Amino acid sequence: MQPEDAPPLDPARMTQAYVGPGRLVGSTPFDGLPNEDAKLRITDAAAAGGFGKRATQYRLRDWGISRQRYWGAPIPVVYCDGCGVVPVPRTDLPVVLPTDVELSGTGGSPLAKVESFVRTTCPRCGGPARRETDTFDTFVESSWYFLRYTSPHDDTRAFDRDALAYWLPVDQYIGGVEHAVLHLLYARFFTKVLRDLGYTGPSAVGPTLDEPFVNLLTQGMVIKDGAKMSKSKGNTVEPDYLIQRYGADTARLFCIFAAPPERDLDWSDQGVEGASRFLHRLWRIVARGRGWLADAPAHTTRGAARDRASDETDAAAARPSGDGTEQARALRRLTHRTIARVTEDVERRQHFNTAVAAVMELVNGYAELVEETPPRDGVLRAAVAEAVATTLVLLAPFVPHVASEIWDAVGGGDLDAQRWPEVDERALAEDVVEMVVQVNGKVRARFSVTPGAAEDAVLAQALAHERVRAHVEGKTIRKTLVVPGRLVSIVV
Ligand SMILES: [Zn+2]
Repeated sequence: MQPEDAPPLDPARMTQAYVGPGRLVGSTPFDGLPNEDAKLRITDAAAAGGFGKRATQYRLRDWGISRQRYWGAPIPVVYCDGCGVVPVPRTDLPVVLPTDVELSGTGGSPLAKVESFVRTTCPRCGGPARRETDTFDTFVESSWYFLRYTSPHDDTRAFDRDALAYWLPVDQYIGGVEHAVLHLLYARFFTKVLRDLGYTGPSAVGPTLDEPFVNLLTQGMVIKDGAKMSKSKGNTVEPDYLIQRYGADTARLFCIFAAPPERDLDWSDQGVEGASRFLHRLWRIVARGRGWLADAPAHTTRGAARDRASDETDAAAARPSGDGTEQARALRRLTHRTIARVTEDVERRQHFNTAVAAVMELVNGYAELVEETPPRDGVLRAAVAEAVATTLVLLAPFVPHVASEIWDAVGGGDLDAQRWPEVDERALAEDVVEMVVQVNGKVRARFSVTPGAAEDAVLAQALAHERVRAHVEGKTIRKTLVVPGRLVSIVV
């Protein structure tokens, strides 16, 4: 195999095998195939030839599940001299850990020294017996806790089949990459064993649970001064300090903005400052206009706000418009472009950093429009209020405290009750109208202008058009006519 787009490698001169992604060479009939496609084609060929087949091999190893620890679920087993190893009967479950245990740190299970726990009677013969004093490795619980989460108050069984069918599989699992191999494999293994034993469905609510998790996101690590941030390295940043000095929202915004979640995040005190500055700036901007923003028609429900704002804009578009309306159109386009970007980034790509960057751009887009005195143009007023409201709803998942505080300050009520905003496609459309240019009654060219552009400017643009110039140059212009939004007529 060799790298994509590389000149052919000479096998005689290679000192080691190329193991990266690339295309196959010297492998007739698979020459030229990308390696991932080739894997499938080669296994298909092996199956067709009867000398191989495609199979998934799991590296699930034997696993000692007992630990010499006090914490952990007790292993419900007793040892009897007469009967041997005897499971604790269902009716005697759960085995409850004693609370008077002494943790000496001298090795072995601390439970072994608690005679009141250890001494018991054999459930089979009634004779004296001893309890198992090891407890389960915590991995046992982490392999199926998500099943229990579906029915946490059910004390008659581990989980309820209907509840399980309702809630699972988990849509989005998030964890460190170190979990991806062991924990997730164990969790899948437990799920499949329970499935085979008939515990995970089907039920009236849904089908049998086959896989516990639909998507996995492995988040990156926090890096400080070039090293993984960890307690053992002593380079951690105390959350208490950050929360006291900046608040939890700043800490969250910094983490979200610094990197996409699957990448490592470089800790930076300047970055924390930056996040704090942005929130303060947003606060100041909105505080300037709070007197009139609260009365502008962008609050109440999002849907109503949207319809009202676009209706006003549409109505305004029908009549000759001033600067305010142009600004309103541009701002609404930015607002709805931001909604589209943030929705895409959050829901599909999970790139929260670019989502926050988009909201920051939106804030820049209206920062100067928010003054103590409201814009005179009602359409612009509505557009600014809509942009501010949208900012707060989009930011709410990232900085819930500040967002709802500001929302409240401009009379928005309960921010949590707001629906996620929807993109108004009409607002996204670029504002242009097509003008037709006639010379002596014949159509010679078409070009685009912004609606409401001044007649002089439109005429100048028409005369400057290459195809119009060809028919006009060297001739005397006798008459011109501009029909706004439609036509430029030139008579020579
Ligand atoms: Zn016995």
